[in-house]
Amino acid sequence: MSFFTLLQDNMNLALVLFALLGLCVGSFLNVVIHRMPLMMHHAWRQESSQFLAAQPDMPSLHTAPLVNIATNDTPITLSTPASRCPHCDHRIRWYENIPLISWLFLRGRCSDCKHRISIRYPFVELVTALLSALVIYHFGVTATGLSALVLVWVLIALTGIDFDTQLLPDRLTFPLLGLGLAVNTQGWFVSPTASVWGALLGFLSLWVVVWLFYLLTKKHGMGQGDFKLLAALGAWLGASMLPLIILLSSLLGAIIGIVLMKIEGESHPFAFGPYIAIAGIVALLYGNDIVTWYLGMYA
Ligand SMILES: [Zn+2]
Repeated sequence: MSFFTLLQDNMNLALVLFALLGLCVGSFLNVVIHRMPLMMHHAWRQESSQFLAAQPDMPSLHTAPLVNIATNDTPITLSTPASRCPHCDHRIRWYENIPLISWLFLRGRCSDCKHRISIRYPFVELVTALLSALVIYHFGVTATGLSALVLVWVLIALTGIDFDTQLLPDRLTFPLLGLGLAVNTQGWFVSPTASVWGALLGFLSLWVVVWLFYLLTKKHGMGQGDFKLLAALGAWLGASMLPLIILLSSLLGAIIGIVLMKIEGESHPFAFGPYIAIAGIVALLYGNDIVTWYLGMYA
């Protein structure tokens, strides 16, 4: 019996193992959430300074120092430099970096300077673990289940990044869109046709929402990243799931947005991406149930 069939036959074992895997992936997602915006920021500084320096009407007297500053930026990737305490520069050792356990063991403080380590880190790890187990519980240890894990993990990263920076990086949304189309060539979630229409209509439908929002408030409430994310979800879950995702995300955005505003004041900028991502996870797991229940009310 292979390991794979062992897991398929033993759901409890599978749930425990995928929850543990989720803890580790959550730990990595914390790094992605923290570093990917810094990596983008780094790239923008390089590109924009070089772009300005290449313009014939820009005096090099002004652009040379910019290029100089950007060139001296410390490059950052997902793996380098090694993680350090942002307050005392204490290098985080491997045993201080075990998901959840280390945070509990250190009682949420740096081992050196005792500065608080945000509860966000164990929270993201725990949520990733629980959702990973839930996805496997729902889809089983199947190709659909394993690809759904990838979808959920990327959605968690996008939620954290958009919440912090109001950015939804193309380097996450575009691969997610492509992967959604790819897995549905096999019909793992919806038919290939539903997937292609989902991607297209996902992108277009938010234009309508943005336009209505603008007519009502004269404000631009959404960015291009939101369109790309909805297109990706359309590719994964099909066009027929889009109304539910838009409705759920608007509802969540209104409720959680108001709660956050009460807690943090108006200081925290509003990002719509997290609500689209959360609605996407709900639609992935319970979309069919919700739609069936809703249609049943009128049957
Ligand atoms: Zn420290």
